[in-house]
Amino acid sequence: MHIRVGTGYDSHRLIADKERPLMLAGVRIPSDYALAAHSDGDVIAHAVMDAILGACALGDIGEMFPDTDAANKGKDSIVMLQAAIARINGHGYKVNNLDITVIAEDPKVRPYRHEMRKSLSAALHMDLNDISIKGKTNEGLGWIGAREGIACIATVSVIRLEADI
Ligand code: MG
Repeated sequence: MHIRVGTGYDSHRLIADKERPLMLAGVRIPSDYALAAHSDGDVIAHAVMDAILGACALGDIGEMFPDTDAANKGKDSIVMLQAAIARINGHGYKVNNLDITVIAEDPKVRPYRHEMRKSLSAALHMDLNDISIKGKTNEGLGWIGAREGIACIATVSVIRLEADI
């Protein structure tokens, strides 16, 4: 079986905004804060997307969805992620498993973890057991510790749909 691995990283600034939804893995998290971005700022979706594209050496999120393109303003990141899946599927790859680490002081990931996994499972047509999401604080250190932003690191493995000859 032909297996490839990719990593993705993303971060966005937290802003005080009760009106703008705080989206993580396609789940709306109740918060007085939101993530500043051209799109909806979903750091999990963005990190996963880069990991998936990276595993297949098929570009990156910025190349697929430039933030200079007005069409991408406020874009649903799950739709972007599904476009990345379609791209790798078109090249004969499918996602095998995902391991995601969210680094944030707030919000806590654990209460939403199951909902986030279900959201990604539905969006990516993957088994729930192939999707891991873990939350960590940054122990109060640096910009994450100061609640200035949230970061996410994603690791993905992909397999080729057809057997290698
Ligand atoms: Mg991003």
